[in-house]
Formats: sequence, C-alpha cells, structure tokens
Amino acid sequence: MARSSPRKKPVVSYKEEGDETAKKPSAARAALGSLKSAAAKLAAKPAPKRMVIDEGAEEAKPEATKPQQTKKRKTTKTNDQDAMPLADRTAVSSLKKAMYIGAHVSAAGGVNNSITNAVHIGANSFALFLKSQRKWDNPPINPEAKSLFMSGCSNHGYNAAEHALPHGSYLVNLAQSDPAKATQAYNAFLDDLNRCEQLGIKLYNFHPGSTLGDSREAAIGRIAAQLNKSHKATSSVITVLENMAGSGNTIGSTWEDLRDIIALVDDKSRVGVCIDTCHAFAAGHDLRTPEAFRKTLDEFRRIVGIKYLKAFHLNDSKAPFGSSRDLHANIGTGFLGLRAFHSVMNEDSFCGMPMVLETPIDKKDAKGKSVEDKQVWADEIKLLESLVGMDADGEKFTALEKELQARGAGERQRIQDQVKKKAAKGGGKKFAAGKKRKKGDDTDDETD
Ligand SMILES: [Zn+2]
Ligand SMILES: [Zn+2]
Repeated sequence: MARSSPRKKPVVSYKEEGDETAKKPSAARAALGSLKSAAAKLAAKPAPKRMVIDEGAEEAKPEATKPQQTKKRKTTKTNDQDAMPLADRTAVSSLKKAMYIGAHVSAAGGVNNSITNAVHIGANSFALFLKSQRKWDNPPINPEAKSLFMSGCSNHGYNAAEHALPHGSYLVNLAQSDPAKATQAYNAFLDDLNRCEQLGIKLYNFHPGSTLGDSREAAIGRIAAQLNKSHKATSSVITVLENMAGSGNTIGSTWEDLRDIIALVDDKSRVGVCIDTCHAFAAGHDLRTPEAFRKTLDEFRRIVGIKYLKAFHLNDSKAPFGSSRDLHANIGTGFLGLRAFHSVMNEDSFCGMPMVLETPIDKKDAKGKSVEDKQVWADEIKLLESLVGMDADGEKFTALEKELQARGAGERQRIQDQVKKKAAKGGGKKFAAGKKRKKGDDTDDETD
C-alpha cells in the first residue's frame, strides 16, 4: 500500500485532472451499475468522514508526529454501526468461478478493524498489516482486538485461514547479512508469523528481500535459512513470497529467484508465492493478451510450480512492460489493461485464493486535500467479479475496456515519458544494474 509505505508517500496518486471522466459519471461506472444496483444507491452517500480521517494517516506517519491519532490507535472499538457498506458483498457461490476479491484494508486502531473495512467495500478477501510498518517494536496483539477479529470473521463469514493475507513489514529484509540486523529482521518476521497463528491466519505475504549488493546466491541462501528457522519456531502459517517489480538488488523479480528460495526451504508445505500482477508485468512477465497470459502462466508452472501459488495482488501498471517500475494503477487504466484481468478472473487454477487490490484510492477533495475514496475499491471489486464468465469479445467488455483505458491515458503517457527520459539518460540501465538511486529519482514507485 502506497499510503503505508515507509518510503515517502508517492507524489502521484490516481487523479483525474484534466480528464473528462472526472466531471461526469464514467461510462464504465454506468456499465457497472446494473451489476450492483444496491451498491450504486449507497454510492451516492459520501463515505463516513471517520473512515477518511482514520485510515492511512495513522499508518503512514510516525506516531511521534501524530499524538492524537496514536491515542486513537489504542482503541479496539468496532465501527460496524457507522460503516454503511459502499457495496454489498457478492456471494462467491453466485460467481461462475470461486474468486475471492478484496483489497488491502486498514487495520488502524486494531486488527479487528480490518474486518469492518473489508465489509465496508464488499470484499471477500483482504490484506492487512498486523502491526505498524514504521517501527521495529510493537506491543503484542491486544486480546480484545484478537477476540473481535475472530468473532468478526465468524459473524461476517470470512475464513481468516483462507482469505486473509497479511502483508509483511517493509523494514524486514531476510537477506540481511549483518548479524545484528539479520536478528532484528528475523525477530520482527517471526513476531508477525506468531500474530498470524494467534489470529487463525494461514497465509503471510512478504517481500523476499534485497541483496544489498551481495551475491544473489548468498542472499537467497540467507532468506531460505531464515524461513527454515521461522517454520520450526511456528506451527502452521505459510510464508508467501511476493514477486517483485525488479529494480536494483531486489530479489524476486524472476520466477527463478522464487524457485531457488523454495528449493532451499526444508518444509515445502510452509512456503508459497503471491503474484502481484503489476510487479510481474513491470518485471517482464506479460499478461496483456490471452496468449501472453498463457505463456507467463506456463513459465510459472514450469519454473516455480502451480502448487506454490497461494494468492494474488491485483494491480494494473502505470509503467510500461518490462520497465522494472513499481507503479500501481487502477484496474483497466494501466498498461496491463482489462484483458489481463479478464484472463486472471477466468483461470480455474486461481479459484479459492485471496486476490487483493493495492490500487490507488487517493483523490483530491474540493480543497485540494488528499483523501481516500474507498468507493474505488468497492467498484473495482465488482468490476473484477463481473469479468468472471464475461464474453471478452462482447460489447460490454469492449466498452468497459475502452472507457478504462481512456481514463488512464494521461497517466500512462506521463510515466512513459519519464521512463523514456531516464532511459535516454542511462537511468533505466542504472535501475536495472542496481546502482543506488539519487534522491528524487523514481519518487512515484510504490513498495507493495
Ligand atoms: Zn503487492
Ligand atoms: Zn508487497
């Protein structure tokens, strides 16, 4: 999630400045209307103000600068009563394929709030951070929050073991070679795994790590060793490696990196992979056409193995194919395009997995202040669900595809120009070679 990244907040958020669609209801949204009539009525209602204030800021800013909100974080009160859903949840059994679509929701104020926030957007799966992403030391899970999380899952019919997908801390690098730092990383990682087990969560997604300039083999060896140790110290949680966009020393942008880590893991039942569609595309795994999707999936099957695939991060890409840039776009508006997501949503081997959006939802309010618009996720969930079984050659799909591509045209152009400029200056090569970035470079890139 961009908003929770320890790196600077991306300058770019999904905006519609100078975009006609900002001024009138979009045709895509209108097309979706029939799919979610109940949700559409609710959409007219602004999201409760609390939701906007409550989220993001708490996770994005150091606590020291946010004394009031720090206090709020301690509360474990549920907010069911004032969180009128923006969209009703779709019964997965009513879809032609069992696709569990959700988003990375906020757990600010207590892990139990992730349930409320998932219900709010009509999500059938969700990602969350189990603790602050900015700090190494965190208090244990509040027992009240834990019990509210468990009862919330049960009341709302979420199977935490199957469809909750926590995201690991960005501070943790399991490839760290410095002994003291490696211990610190391991302890934070293990602490998260313990939290998963306390909450009945089975899947834990994390970024494999960075070589920090060391050899790839040595870094991969250290990641696997840390995983083996963590598996012995816990009982059931599956550590899920996320594929990366592939710049610099980052491990995990190739299927081979993931394969090589898995090869060194002793207990293969405790390791898996989460494919982030934006990262895959940026790293050179094409998904745009049905043929490209098939080829990429075949390569994944051959190199990693489909049995390790456990989850998805569904994001379009603002950056072009193979650019190694990690810039999430709203579904259908980026260089991946809606056809890629149609392929994903109709792939039998992906059924039953948590598939979470990490798409931008920041918009400017009338005063130019950045606010989160959760309706974006509520709509994207319905959009993705609508693709299950949709005729990709039919009028409905073509109209949606065209509308969404038009909406993202300005942003795609802007990023493409940046990428070209950097390549002309040799900057693109620098990224690929893993040289240190200058401050101010690549400020838009996200880390999730
Ligand atoms: Zn991701
Ligand atoms: Zn991530």
